[in-house]
Amino acid sequence: MAKIKQVLNSVTVEEAKRKRICHRNRKKHAISGGERCLVVRDPASGGKRNYCVECGNEILDVAADDLHMLRTDLNA
Ligand SMILES: [Zn+2]
Repeated sequence: MAKIKQVLNSVTVEEAKRKRICHRNRKKHAISGGERCLVVRDPASGGKRNYCVECGNEILDVAADDLHMLRTDLNA
């Protein structure tokens, strides 16, 4: 049987080696070296955006809701 396709390839968690900027709030949310951050890649541009833990959790909350909606729709 064929491998199950993974659709969340563009989202990963990384530990910042040095300071990064949170894309959602560039002025107030710094990601310091040693801290974890959510990294979202854009396959079209090859670029990536970093989000601090607070913003990353909000992004994952929305994604969890979206996944739940998709599953509900699929099984309707
Ligand atoms: Zn942030």
